Amino acid sequence: MSLGLYLHYPFCRNRCSYCDFYKELYDEKLEEQFFGALATETDLLASEYANKHREVTSIFIGGGTPSLASRDLLAEWLKTVKRRFSVSDHLEFSIETNPESVSLDLLEFYRHLGVNRPLFGIQSFDTRLLKVLDRRHRPHDSHRAVYQANALGFENFGVDLIYGLPGQNSGMLAMDLDQLLDLEPPHISFYQLTVEEGTGLAEKVSAGTLRLPDQELAHAMYRGGAQQMEEAGYKRYEVSSFAKPGFECRHNLGYWEGDEYLGLGPSAHCFMDSERFANDADLRTYLDDLRAGKLPRVIDESGPEERMTEAILLGLRTTQGISRKRFSQRFGVPLKDRLDRKQYRILVESGHLVPDRGNLRLSDEGFYLADEITRRLLK
Ligand code: SF4
Repeated sequence: MSLGLYLHYPFCRNRCSYCDFYKELYDEKLEEQFFGALATETDLLASEYANKHREVTSIFIGGGTPSLASRDLLAEWLKTVKRRFSVSDHLEFSIETNPESVSLDLLEFYRHLGVNRPLFGIQSFDTRLLKVLDRRHRPHDSHRAVYQANALGFENFGVDLIYGLPGQNSGMLAMDLDQLLDLEPPHISFYQLTVEEGTGLAEKVSAGTLRLPDQELAHAMYRGGAQQMEEAGYKRYEVSSFAKPGFECRHNLGYWEGDEYLGLGPSAHCFMDSERFANDADLRTYLDDLRAGKLPRVIDESGPEERMTEAILLGLRTTQGISRKRFSQRFGVPLKDRLDRKQYRILVESGHLVPDRGNLRLSDEGFYLADEITRRLLK
């Protein structure tokens, strides 16, 4: 059985205006304590879940800013993982980086560690928009990071781009994508900017100092962006994920297909033995609990109803859609019983929803309205 490992590295150099991921400002001593606790967490999880039937097929290090992590401590953690879990020879190993902290030396270290999929948080090539987001990098950092990955022969790497930024229009996005496509990344994550409560961005938007493109313009941007990427040879396999054939992210596919995964670090989530749980999104609690020899776990009380809803939400975001057979095997209920029949009929007739070879999926037109359609479809 394949198992995904996710590590949430919880430190950043600053707080970007739009970000609501759990993070703390970087501190060397705290980082050392974090890796100490992480070793205990890895051991505890391995004692509970590692067995000969489970093989780690993907590792994904996100955050936070994992490219800040101490090399020695990161390498030490990986040794623990390899000692305690069975790790596939065909491991997909991804790590998120911020372009300003990438160097040839760092990428060489990653390659030595076994990373075969560095990810670069480019977000935009527009200096003004990067400043609005409070990102620390500048466009030349993004170019340099990707050139260095190419120079070192990384065949697989990914980049993130955000659209729907304050003051952005379709022409500006097309220019961002032109620059991005020139770099020929095998994988592109293409996200719409969302305003998360409690962030600096939310404050400015509600004070009226920043204005986001309206929903119609944001849809037009998504549509234009998707078309530009498809014309350049990328295939959309999930609403926000575009890849050259064969470069889909296996780790994320595992999430969407209901595979097991273990999340380590504050705020990380797990799905094991049909149970879902998460770690406290608080570094102090994380450190205290693990020092006391217990997992910093918050059990997710959600029942089968919520799981089914989540499977529909995630499944409809993928290009292949939801497998009816897999859904009924997993939940013991046919998919159609979970959907609003009237809405289902309307959406199939309008061409937004496609019942296709045992799968239920969104049409191209449906993708632009994925969230709205899913909301209407769910009973
Ligand atoms: S670097 Fe990433 S995780 Fe850190 S604040 Fe910025 S967006 Fe959030």
